[in-house]
Formats: sequence, C-alpha cells, structure tokens
Amino acid sequence: MEVQLLEKDKETDKVNFILKDSTPAFANVLRRIMLWEVPVMAIDEIEFKKNGSILYDEMIAHRMGLVPLTTDLKSYTLPEKCKCEGKGCAHCQLKMSLKVKGPAMVYASDIKSKDPAVKPVYPKLPIVKLLKNQTLELEATATLGTGKRHAKWSPGHVYYTYLPKITVHDNPEKLAQFGDKYPPQIFGKDGKIDRNLISTPALIDACDGVCDDLVKVEYNPNSFVFYIEPWGQLPSKKIVQQAANVLQEQLDEVTEALKQ
Ligand SMILES: [Zn+2]
Repeated sequence: MEVQLLEKDKETDKVNFILKDSTPAFANVLRRIMLWEVPVMAIDEIEFKKNGSILYDEMIAHRMGLVPLTTDLKSYTLPEKCKCEGKGCAHCQLKMSLKVKGPAMVYASDIKSKDPAVKPVYPKLPIVKLLKNQTLELEATATLGTGKRHAKWSPGHVYYTYLPKITVHDNPEKLAQFGDKYPPQIFGKDGKIDRNLISTPALIDACDGVCDDLVKVEYNPNSFVFYIEPWGQLPSKKIVQQAANVLQEQLDEVTEALKQ
C-alpha cells in the first residue's frame, strides 16, 4: 500500500491524495473512520441565563452546537473513555460562556472559552441578531465526541473515487460528432479537449462513456483518490493520522478479544 499526496490547498486545507494498491473495503473503512470516529470538540449542553432574542433556546443551542471548535486531542479524552466515567471533568469537558447585549449581531467570536486551544474556527459565524434591550447570556459545555453520535462532531467531508486513467485523442471527425455532448469546461482556447482541464470527479464522470475515441476513462480497481475537506476543528493531515490510530486501536481490541 502506498499514499501519495496529490494536492493541498493552503487556504482551505483541502487535501487530495492517492491510496495505491489497496482494496475497496480498506478505502471505505478509512473513509468511515475519518467521518465518524475521529473525535473533535463541539458544544453539547447549554444553560440559558437570559434569552431575549427572537430565537427559541433550542434553536440557539442547535446553532451553537454546529459551530466548529478548534480541537486539541492531547488534552481531552472522549467522555466514555475518561476516568470520570462520563460524569464530566476537566479531561473531557470545557466550560464556555457568552454574554451579549443588543443591539448587536452575536457572532461565534463572542463565545468565550477558558482554554485558548479550543475556540471557534470561524469567528464571524453569525448566531443570532439582537435588537435594542435584548440580551443573550448563557453557559455552554463543549465535549469531545464523534460523528457516529451527531454530525456536529464530524471533522469534515471525506469521499473517494477510483483512480482514473484518462486518455485524450485528437480526432476532429469524432469531435464534430460528439463535441456538444461534453462539458464546455474541458475545452481549451484552441477548441480542443484539454486533458488537464478534466480535473474534478464530476467532470471525469461526465466524460466517461461519451466517446472512447475522444476521451477514454479507465478506473484502477485497487487505487483510490481521496478528497478531504476539513471543517476546521483539525488539520486534514491530523484527520488522516488520527483515523489510522483509531483503526489500529480497534484492531488491537480484536487481537486482544481473540486471545481471550
Ligand atoms: Zn471526564
């Protein structure tokens, strides 16, 4: 098995990599662990002190739960694996507070965290608008959790495709016949199909099977292109590393159970 980095967007931290010489079963295990078993922090409980806003407590709680929080996996453990046995302590929980008086827009940046390592990823995320004399005051508890329980604990969007091999042929006769069946984005300035422009899974899919004498798409059944789009709680590299750790832990558990 081999992993090869394809592309990394410095601004969004989106990463594409190739997983070579593997199996569909393993690729899917990796995807599922990244989506649902890599833990991140999210607000899970809120105690409202004052809510004069137009939104119900439940709606504000829901919005705040979905605010991505930067996550420090070294300092926190999952409540179910914590020494406190899920009762809640400084190793699995973090208290946060918010107090805003209107008129004002309440932003994620108004959530004050006691741990500088855990704070909203996007400070300008709006939560609710307050009019004059409206106040929002609350205390929130963030915990580590996994996407298996709720999507708010998912570290990002992860998907993969089989690794495509794309061959483009210069065939003016077929181009005249089938040219309008292809997406316009794949044509260069010279009006010919440009191999480099067939770059996204959607475009590759749109070109597959139209006319093999112009664009031939073949898929390698044992190599995959992974696309990772993190929500920001963890860097994409960490998501992959952590997924490998989780898988290793689960395999160790199986080994241990077999011994018994
Ligand atoms: Zn605890």
